[in-house]
Amino acid sequence: MSDKQKKQNWREYVRRIDPYVPGEQPKERNIVKLNTNENPYPPSKRVEAVLRGLDPASLRLYPDPDASVLISAIAKHSGVDEDEVFAGVGSDDVLAMAFMTFFNSREPLLFPDISYSFYEVWADLFQVPFEKVPLDEAFRIRTSDYKRANGGIIFPNPNAPTGILLSIREIREILDANRDSVVIVDEAYIDFGGESAVPLIREYDNLLVVQTFSKSRSGAGLRIGYAVGSRELIRHMRDVKFSYNSYTLNPLQIMGGAAMIEDEEHFRKCRDRIIATRERSAVRLKEMGFSVLPSAANFLFASHPSLGGEELFRFLKEHGIYVRHWNKARIENYLRITIGTEEEMEQLFRVLALMIKE
Ligand SMILES: *Cc1c(COP(=O)(O)O)cnc(C)c1O
Repeated sequence: MSDKQKKQNWREYVRRIDPYVPGEQPKERNIVKLNTNENPYPPSKRVEAVLRGLDPASLRLYPDPDASVLISAIAKHSGVDEDEVFAGVGSDDVLAMAFMTFFNSREPLLFPDISYSFYEVWADLFQVPFEKVPLDEAFRIRTSDYKRANGGIIFPNPNAPTGILLSIREIREILDANRDSVVIVDEAYIDFGGESAVPLIREYDNLLVVQTFSKSRSGAGLRIGYAVGSRELIRHMRDVKFSYNSYTLNPLQIMGGAAMIEDEEHFRKCRDRIIATRERSAVRLKEMGFSVLPSAANFLFASHPSLGGEELFRFLKEHGIYVRHWNKARIENYLRITIGTEEEMEQLFRVLALMIKE
């Protein structure tokens, strides 16, 4: 080796990335946790029965790589065939797989500038060119902005953190203008008041609808998400998954998840309660002078005319109430407040009242 040959160092070849920052999971008890859109109600009792019934000896074996029991329960729930469903470790895993599988064009991936901040992180990680499309003045997605050359489209519906819903007519408009791109609708919050795009998958073979057990199903800790789409889309995602990690879902997720999605009655009861609390909470916040965006999700996005977002966030935290705040243009004065139980919301209003009086 000549002296002139430059010595290489591994540090030059590290994939450096600014990671996604999830909301805090505080270790203290007695925190009113309204910061990560978890469900305030426990999952179905059927889940407990299934988890208790699992034989630890079965953990000796690898799990079913096809997660058939879970896939079949999701397919039945969604009114589609099993080969139109893909499941993963939370919808974050499903979305990451979808990015890897579909977004390999040189044209930019399009998503809203105010949206789920993980999209930009995955685009960086998988080296996908992207463009952030500004929301309009009312924080709405403008469908006409999605009628141009692109390498794919992704947006949440309802959008996060705004909570604002697009109608099926508007989704169709985006799909009709983008027959040659994969369009992903991230329906993490669709159960709280929106109409799902799942029935459109037979009409649009380029549509992938992603849902999660983390919010409306009370299962954030179990980590299950899924995608529904044409056989062709799902087949490609499975090929990528089996080239990456065959055994993503364990028996707790497969059996517990199936029980979780089968208990429709428990699901409806909790969801209806959350929607009712959301509506009452929006009224209360407005009475306190907040402006509140119309939400179809299990959170509210609100700002106060005389109190800054950072200031509100800190005051609430000091009083044991965690909400989400971003130091980001246009939304720096907003708080995203997860809908908790009635009692938790009462605590929030008590603390806000202290601050508004001061
Ligand atoms: C919560 C959330 C997800 C991810 O949820 P998982 O817990 O990984 O299933 C995906 N997209 C949006 C918009 C979310 O808010």
